[in-house]
Amino acid sequence: MDEFGLIDHYFTRPSRRPEVVLGVGDDAALLALPGADRHLVVTTDTLIEGVHFALGAPGYDVGYKALAVNVSDLAAMGARPLAFLLNLSLPAIDRAWLAGFREGLFTLADAVALDLVGGDTVRGPLSVTITALGTVPPGGALRRSGARAGDRVYVSGFLGEAALGFFTRSGRLALPPELHAPVLARLDRPLPRIQEGQALAGIASAAIDISDGLVADLGHILKASGVGAEIDLRRLPLSSAYDAAFATVGYDPALVFGDDYELCFTVPPERVPALAGITPRFSCGFHYLGDIVAGHELVLRDGQDVYAPARSGYNHFDG
Ligand code: ADP
Ligand code: MG
Repeated sequence: MDEFGLIDHYFTRPSRRPEVVLGVGDDAALLALPGADRHLVVTTDTLIEGVHFALGAPGYDVGYKALAVNVSDLAAMGARPLAFLLNLSLPAIDRAWLAGFREGLFTLADAVALDLVGGDTVRGPLSVTITALGTVPPGGALRRSGARAGDRVYVSGFLGEAALGFFTRSGRLALPPELHAPVLARLDRPLPRIQEGQALAGIASAAIDISDGLVADLGHILKASGVGAEIDLRRLPLSSAYDAAFATVGYDPALVFGDDYELCFTVPPERVPALAGITPRFSCGFHYLGDIVAGHELVLRDGQDVYAPARSGYNHFDG
């Protein structure tokens, strides 16, 4: 049983309340509050030392990233950020670390206009859980389940940058020194696509943020939508740093590593002009990768050949 099988088996139940518009299984839940003109968007994620960040990672990076992964889920719903809760488990009070943590946390919170409104603080192994709240107009959220055969598949920004950062830090990849800082920044301080997500609401038929890798996360769209997809790997948006590493690492870091926090989304053909209309507003770019097809397979093509990555993506209970 893997991470997602576990969630399905133990924690996915039919909703008992009419206010739950969307429950377990998407990037965030949607709640309709009686009398409110917007739906509440709710998401939570945990980062654990030694699993999601290295032992001894700087407080700034941990604070920034713990919030970023949650904000990215709001982005994937097309939500406007509202507020967040912070649950901290700390082995001891380390003032210098906490000052850095707070700076990283509030730097991103200020950038996306999120207020910290509560949380919990306990002594224990170092971990950070954030619950982020946002809002969307009723019916205006991006979901994983709206893709249809004939829709086009897109991704924002570059893929595989966080993987290059990870391999660089661990010494497994020797990029030219001037490329170290950019790829480490993409690993430590991803830019959640909040503005992009809101602009894509009404254009995209389905969306997800890439936390576990394109193959796994597009796979979640396909499963939720009951469709397949064909992707042309030669269309993958790869940076010049990635080009420099390609001979060593191949396609897989861009496909299965994750941690990029870009958006993967689908657009019906008739809304492609609307996508072209918003594209100039965003420097990350939206890159066409391939098409949604009938069936349930994800086929990756490298020219005429079908490509199979070595693994499918990050999963906490793989195998
Ligand atoms: P994401 O990567 O977008 O944060 P996850 O892969 O962590 O999403 O989770 C997939 C879905 O399962 C989400 O809707 C999440 O809220 C839900 N989920 C994860 N763990 C649990 C749990 N223990 N109980 C209920 N729902 C869960
Ligand atoms: Mg997500």
